[in-house]
Amino acid sequence: MNSDKIPVTKSSMPPIEEYIEEIAPLWESHWLTNMGVKHKELEKELRKYLRVDNIALYANGHSALEGIIEAMNLGADGRSKVITTPFTFASTAHAIVRKGLTPVFADIKPDDCTIDPDSIKDLMSEEVCAIMPVHVYGNLCDVDAIAEVAKNSDCKVIYDAAHAFGVTKDGIGAADFGDASMLSFHATKVFNTIEGGAICFRDKNLEPVLNQWKNFGITGPETVEYIGGNAKMNEFAAAMGLCNLRHVDNEISKRKAIAETYYSMLEPIGGIHAIKPNTSVEHNYAYMPVCIGDSFPLSRDELHEKLSKSNVFSRKYFYPLISDYECYSNEYDSQSTPIAKDVASRILTLPLYADLSVEDVRRICEVIAAN
Ligand SMILES: *Cc1c(COP(=O)(O)O)cnc(C)c1O
Repeated sequence: MNSDKIPVTKSSMPPIEEYIEEIAPLWESHWLTNMGVKHKELEKELRKYLRVDNIALYANGHSALEGIIEAMNLGADGRSKVITTPFTFASTAHAIVRKGLTPVFADIKPDDCTIDPDSIKDLMSEEVCAIMPVHVYGNLCDVDAIAEVAKNSDCKVIYDAAHAFGVTKDGIGAADFGDASMLSFHATKVFNTIEGGAICFRDKNLEPVLNQWKNFGITGPETVEYIGGNAKMNEFAAAMGLCNLRHVDNEISKRKAIAETYYSMLEPIGGIHAIKPNTSVEHNYAYMPVCIGDSFPLSRDELHEKLSKSNVFSRKYFYPLISDYECYSNEYDSQSTPIAKDVASRILTLPLYADLSVEDVRRICEVIAAN
């Protein structure tokens, strides 16, 4: 049997000729960063593709999250808590803490791993200034229920939509819910600019601030009005984005076909439960998450180990919970989110990328099934 390495993910890249053609004008202009031509063009194309009115590009998704927290001036009115999920990537909670606010962890729903609106409701208090839910694996949160909770308490909703590029529901783009949505264009995401990210936002008035913030708070040739950071997307990254955007729909349909192959091959294996996208959503098939049930002969960790011995690389995504990180565990008890705790101990994401072959999927499923 073929035993070549199968990585858990593989970055999408356009044909090299296409990228060379895209970046060639930069050798004429010598304009490499600071909101150049490619940057403007990518913003325009993404507004269209994502079906959003307002977008600001960033050097990465994480700084976009920090940027929007500052631009919205969260915490300034004395409310310092942000309700979020512990079942996410480090970035979500780190952005909150690094901006001087305090995360409060709500539990998740076991079916799609997104934050549970009832759990948010239970944690609501006068100290909460924002809710930061995550569209985990591209599965959309219960956006209507979250909007309702937020409305009753006058707090902002900022989505971590890092996983949800290209997802739509009833014709609405995933980045168009709430007050703002962060997207990540990191190399491992469905759409990449090598490193990169964006914030999509409802309030047009935030636009100048979001753009100045990523450039040191510089507001004019001789004026620096506030203490911003540096998080500009450079022209080479934007050019990569322009190229990748032309292929992303095709890549998503390939991902979909691979995911469906997985679903049918995993179906007969007892104790392996694929977390499938909700059928009411046009999904992006960003990841291939499976939950390992009690009836499976191996634990999640044992299966992870067994796969890697067969040169198949899976990922415990997300494990550990954020509330169990060394930097947070003194202040939080992960037992307060029992569903998230349980899912984190059972979850495994299997290899998924656009050119993963059916033969490879078969090989992966055979390793899982052989016990
Ligand atoms: C990738 C990711 C981020 C951070 O994005 P970067 O572009 O890597 O900074 C934040 N949240 C989630 C859920 C992610 O997967």
